[in-house]
Amino acid sequence: MPAKTIGVPVLPASELEQGEFCRPGVDLEARPLAEEMGANIRWQSIPGEYARLDAAQLDARIGAARRALGSRAVVLGHHYQREEVIKYADLQGDSFKLSQHAASQAEAEYIVFCGVHFMAETADVLSADHQQVILPNLTAGCSMADMAPTDDVLDCWDDLAEVLGEGQVAPVAYMNSTADIKALCGRNGGIICTSSNAQAMMAWAFEQRPKVLFLPDEHLGRNTALALGVPEERIVVWNPWKRLGRLTEAQLREARVILWRGHCAVHTRFRVHQIDAARAQFPDVTVIVHPECTREVVEAADLNGSTERIIAAVNGGAPGSVWAVGTEINLVHRLQLLNPDKRVFCLDPVVCPCSTMYRIHPAYVAWVLERLVEGAVVNRVEVEPATKAEARASLQRMLDVTAARTLAAARD
Ligand code: SF4
Repeated sequence: MPAKTIGVPVLPASELEQGEFCRPGVDLEARPLAEEMGANIRWQSIPGEYARLDAAQLDARIGAARRALGSRAVVLGHHYQREEVIKYADLQGDSFKLSQHAASQAEAEYIVFCGVHFMAETADVLSADHQQVILPNLTAGCSMADMAPTDDVLDCWDDLAEVLGEGQVAPVAYMNSTADIKALCGRNGGIICTSSNAQAMMAWAFEQRPKVLFLPDEHLGRNTALALGVPEERIVVWNPWKRLGRLTEAQLREARVILWRGHCAVHTRFRVHQIDAARAQFPDVTVIVHPECTREVVEAADLNGSTERIIAAVNGGAPGSVWAVGTEINLVHRLQLLNPDKRVFCLDPVVCPCSTMYRIHPAYVAWVLERLVEGAVVNRVEVEPATKAEARASLQRMLDVTAARTLAAARD
């Protein structure tokens, strides 16, 4: 367990490393891993032969390993993965869709998750006992999930109970959180949300308790609370580095929503002046952003929504329409490729992929698949049983609430 740091702002390493792959221009092409390893970030070590393989050699070896494994292995690819990785995925999607898919693939003994650590954990939580989840590069974390370390969140939870009393706060954790945080929600009557259903899950939480602790993304939490009509002055931010979150007891008693101070380093790069520039250049542009962006950006955009909503909106746009998109560059680039009849571009002119997602280089995919062919499992991500049960309970609550609301809407 990481030690709690009080008063010393220690940024998670993954965020400090975020800018390492940023470059002006549109070049997203993968290079041999040995070259990419020149970037000043942490990489998991890998046998040297893999680092030197070129794209064609990797393609041939991954293809052969996949044929040898057949239906025993399923490869999942998050929307933010690069083209050179996503092409090997049996299914593309957001983290929850992929985990659900993995759980439905009973034949698959191995789930190779091309995404980041919390996604592999979620897949393990939802998968069957005979399935093993593999993250090709164990240094592919998520800077946002890292911003809510277990000990800090447990301390916050205890402080809130001490100031407000037991049973006053419902924890709502975004899918982009560790299994420990999901487990905290599971054992304390809380729930998980995705960027698609955050409003419905927060509304449900308010039916259970007077206050909500939303974590780890401050921006999704604020955008959701405001959309539900929570007054701005009743939304406070918990700073985990300060005593009592740098809030007074009176502020906590007055608050309806307590936001954990966390953010996505990718989505907070988008700015209102980028939206202004897009509109100045293309008066008919539709600006669509992810709700992990700041409130100002979400309010300035025409539309906001999850990755799945962004994909549906752009794919469903009229021929000739123009789209400025505020989300991870690999997804925007793919939307450009898939929609040649439209103009689709990223709001941020600097090409800046999520540096943690980007660590899933095809060389790692080749390495883990070839080890599986040899009968060895490397890079397994496994959640310990008690945490798994509690995390699963919070995810199941989300599914139950979604099903109940869908049924109620159909009856209306
Ligand atoms: S895009 Fe943001 S939230 Fe998603 S994995 Fe990267 S750092 Fe985490």
